[in-house]
Amino acid sequence: MKLKVVTKSSEETMRVGEKLARSLGVPVVISLVGDLGAGKTTFTKGFAKGFGVKDIVTSPTFTIMNEYDGRAKLYHFDMYRLSSMEEAIELGFEEYFDLSRLKGATLVEWAENVEGLLPMRHIEVTLTKGEGDERTIEIEPKGLV
Ligand code: ADP
Ligand code: MG
Repeated sequence: MKLKVVTKSSEETMRVGEKLARSLGVPVVISLVGDLGAGKTTFTKGFAKGFGVKDIVTSPTFTIMNEYDGRAKLYHFDMYRLSSMEEAIELGFEEYFDLSRLKGATLVEWAENVEGLLPMRHIEVTLTKGEGDERTIEIEPKGLV
């Protein structure tokens, strides 16, 4: 199944993320796919709100991972600066992608840089830029979530 929605502002994208968070249990891993500026971090901000996070969510581009407290832990990754699954494992990130150990929600930008790290069961959210502020968001559960 694939859900598709077109948004016309960052607020609207955040609301889609917020709704998804409200509908999901944990553990859950979400892969965010899309170019720079597509709205992956914006979507995560909304998701965090729906997940009960009160802190301000910022891009983890330089820290690679930011951790938040919501109704469970939320781990927000940006793998932009990594180049292999081995590198992610060396940094100790494997447990956040292992559904038998994960207790919260893991959201990951640029998961394609660390191919093989995602569990078979995850949700893929693809954001595509359109004209101006238009973004197409596709939500697809993979591997029978
Ligand atoms: P990414 O993490 O994919 O690089 P960001 O979420 O950091 O992208 O940035 C998206 C940018 O696009 C923000 O400046 C945001 O305000 C803007 N924007 C404009 N329209 C939208 C929209 N419909 N959805 C998400 N972001 C949008
Ligand atoms: Mg980002």
